[in-house]
Amino acid sequence: MAHQVFNWQINRKMDYWYNEARPKRQIAYIFDINKCIACQTCTLACKTTWTSGKGQDAMLWNNVETKPFGFYPTAWDVRLLDMLGAQSWGEDEYEGKTIFESAPAGERVLGFRPEDEDYSHPNLGEDEISAPINSGMHIKGLQEQWMFYLARICNHCTYPSCLASCPRGAIYKRPEDGIVLIDQKNCRGHRECIRGCPYKKTFFNDVAGVSEKCIGCYPKIESGRQPQCVTSCIGKIRMQGFINTPENARADNPMDYLVHIRKIALPLYPQFGLEPNVYYIPPLHVSRKFMHMMFGPGVDKAIEVYRTAKDDPELLAALLLFGASERTIHTFAARDGMTLGFDEKGAEVARAPIKEPVYIRPYFDEAREVYRHNTP
Ligand code: SF4
Ligand code: SF4
Repeated sequence: MAHQVFNWQINRKMDYWYNEARPKRQIAYIFDINKCIACQTCTLACKTTWTSGKGQDAMLWNNVETKPFGFYPTAWDVRLLDMLGAQSWGEDEYEGKTIFESAPAGERVLGFRPEDEDYSHPNLGEDEISAPINSGMHIKGLQEQWMFYLARICNHCTYPSCLASCPRGAIYKRPEDGIVLIDQKNCRGHRECIRGCPYKKTFFNDVAGVSEKCIGCYPKIESGRQPQCVTSCIGKIRMQGFINTPENARADNPMDYLVHIRKIALPLYPQFGLEPNVYYIPPLHVSRKFMHMMFGPGVDKAIEVYRTAKDDPELLAALLLFGASERTIHTFAARDGMTLGFDEKGAEVARAPIKEPVYIRPYFDEAREVYRHNTP
């Protein structure tokens, strides 16, 4: 039976299978799409840590796909968007239906289960731009041509549809950090979670006969460290922390600051209704229509604020914490031209200059009798 719960990302109450039960603290991530280079280091760091066993060959708890044509599994989002049909946002709330509210009679969630074949092409559409030359689609000019890299993991949703879909009650959300886990002893491999997760971030292990998913690197989280995909990121596009609800947002918490206060990081497909906890700084160069579809109505404001970052020391201080520490940063401050990050006990765990100093070396080095080139 459906319960009424509040989802701040769509700014209204909605139907959910269980009562609202927020954890004591909620794990969250921010990914800056503008910085991702699709090196797949995160994908491999996750794969070698967690999914190199039997039955896990086609399983990528972390994947990076090129939008608009990349998908893993094939068509995961466009297929569901199609099933959901045209929906709309009002002035400050979502007026359409979530996947819980659109569930067919007798089902808990609107969803579909991909075929095995759909997991066989994780590189589909890689590096393809939105309107290939000679396609006839680029007639409006270069601004119509774009692509970007979308790094994806489980969103450790506040209202997980994997959890709502499981007929065994084998999926749970940890009260201490909001990480969503599948109890392997209870799972009987019904694969309802795979049908129910709109992000397709639970996977079936056909050797073990159970479903498996991202575990948020919980052993690292428990020891105050950020997950493997975050600390291995070459582009320093990621930060993991803990997020509060908007009414409890703290200006010194980097997650709250970037999501709730500056509003430059947005959830992926908030209209699905899960209150996902991976937040994305949207890419600057991409079709706004596409961005609105993917990240909701906050896109214009997010991009406007992001463009001012270079002249905004406080915002820069928060952004420069990405990739600055292996430890989870709970609070931050800008002091004497530096950004400082602190752990839960207030100990300093990150320090970086807000503005890198510039050294201009003499063109001719007299001591070594050599000419030097300076790169501006
Ligand atoms: S992203 Fe999918 S697998 Fe992860 S918590 Fe949400 S519904 Fe569950
Ligand atoms: S490691 Fe970082 S930069 Fe490389 S693909 Fe992953 S998210 Fe992108």
